[in-house]
Parts: sequence; C-alpha cells; structure tokens
Amino acid sequence: MNANESDRTPVGNADQPLAGSVALVTGASSGIGEAAALSLARLGCSVAMVARRTDRLTELSDAIGTHGAAALPLTADLSAPGQARRAVEETVRRFGRLDVVVNNAGYGARAAVEDSDLADWERMVDLNLKAVLHLSHAALPHLLRAAEDDVRGVADLVTVSSVAGRLARKNNSVYSATKHAVCSFSDALRQEVTGRGVRVGLVEPGMTTTEMTLGGESAFGMAQESWLRAEDVARSISFMITQPPHVAINEIMVRPTAQEH
Ligand code: NDP
Repeated sequence: MNANESDRTPVGNADQPLAGSVALVTGASSGIGEAAALSLARLGCSVAMVARRTDRLTELSDAIGTHGAAALPLTADLSAPGQARRAVEETVRRFGRLDVVVNNAGYGARAAVEDSDLADWERMVDLNLKAVLHLSHAALPHLLRAAEDDVRGVADLVTVSSVAGRLARKNNSVYSATKHAVCSFSDALRQEVTGRGVRVGLVEPGMTTTEMTLGGESAFGMAQESWLRAEDVARSISFMITQPPHVAINEIMVRPTAQEH
C-alpha cells in the first residue's frame, strides 16, 4: 500500500457502497455541493471539496471526519485559469485516484438582456460552463483509469445543471444558456466514454433553498416552504452514483412537487 492509498477510506465496508472510492465535489462550501459532499462521505467516499471559502470547507471537512471518512478541503476560484486542473491534481496526489466528480459550483444572476451587467455574464460563463469543461477534461484520464480497476468497475461524472438547462425563460437568458451548454457537453461526452465505464450524468434541480436563492420569497408562485432542500438534490446525485455498474442514469430532473415549469 502506498501513502496515497493509506489516506483513503478502506475498501469493503458493506454499509458503504462507495468505500474505497474518491470523490471531488465543486461548490462544496454551501448548498447542494455541501449536502452532496456529506452524502458521498456517508456512502464511504473520501471527498475532496472545492470552493473559495476556506473556513466553510474546513468546517465541512471536520464534520466529515466525525463520520470516519477522509476529507480534503481545496480552496480555489474555479473561474481562474488552471484552478480546475490543480484541484484534480491535488485530489489525486492526496488520495491516489479519482472515481467520482460532481461539477456543482455555479452562479446565477437574473436580469433582462438589455439590463444585464456584462460582468455577471462573464462570471456565469466562466464558472457554470468553462470551469465544468476544464475540470471534466482534467478529471477524465483519472476516471477512465478508475473505471478499469475493480473498486467499482465504473466511474461517475455528474454535473449539476438546472431545469433552466432544458427550458429557457425570460430574465434568465445567460444562466439558462450556460446550463443548456453543459447539457450538450455532457451528452456528447457520455457517448465518448460510456463504453469504457465512465457514466456521465446530469442532475437538473428546480427551485432549491440555498444561498443562491436567498432572499427570494417565492418563485413560479410557490412559497419557499415548498421548494426543494439541498439534501433532496444530493439524494438524486447519490442515487445516480450508487447504481450497479451496468446501470447508467444519465439525467434526473428533480423539481418541487408544486413547480409546474
Ligand atoms: P450555493 O450558492 O449555495 O452554492 C454555490 C457554490 O459554488 C458555493 O459552494 C460557492 O462557494 C461555489 N462557488 C461559487 N463561485 C465559485 C468559484 N468562482 N470558484 C469555486 N467555487 C465557487 O448555490 P446552490 O447550492 O443552489 O448551487 C449549486 C448548483 O446548483 C449550481 O450549479 C446552481 O446553478 C445549481 N442549481 C441551483 C438551483 C437552486 O434553486 N438553488 C436550481 C437549479 C440549479 P464559495 O462562495 O465558497 O466559492
């Protein structure tokens, strides 16, 4: 066993289907990413967590440690060049492999096109689209390698898109465009690698109570009490990843029951 292997949660715990696997979750300092990182740790993964707020990542890392799982907080601004690749490299340096990627970090700013701040557009394209492309590219060789060995016999690349990645709506054009773009990317990539054991999936949440939607009291006529919680979306992500090796769930749209569109 080398130093990296000894850092990982050992393989073979029957209650933990992902034991021995290593996950990297972006945007893990709050909301859906935080819930996904916790859920993957409970399922047995060692988890690398990426975001800009070091204090939040450190708290989460401590919480994951209490479940007996290994955690690696990685402070990075994923919209900066080279940061996505660095996050992947540091994960593999620490844990020796990479089995699961959750591309979750995202930013949304709503405005009509004519009223939009172009800096918001840049931020959405850089984070919601370019960071997903760069991180996926950097992770792919490691995921392909992980799919070849016998820890699970598959690897998973999950991107958190949105209902807005399927349905365009006014005042949300660029956010929706970035989410449509990752949807196309995801399905094209799926066709390239699924025959080699890398499952590529999209989770498309509807209205979810997180920091991103803080201050919004209602949407689509729905009071906030009826919106999804971050844990509801994390459950969809975990469901996708814990399927048997011959089953690939490539897309889950998960809305609050009260959300019509
Ligand atoms: P949050 O605002 O709670 O989470 C966003 C996460 O992204 C945070 O951890 C934030 O951490 C991280 N992040 C933001 N900018 C950067 C950056 N430049 N570099 C690295 N990390 C960054 O929102 P949600 O949990 O709701 O969002 C998660 C995903 O879910 C997003 O992709 C979003 O588009 C999607 N989504 C959300 C919906 C909702 O209703 N909430 C609905 C549909 C989709 P930090 O600030 O520390 O960097």
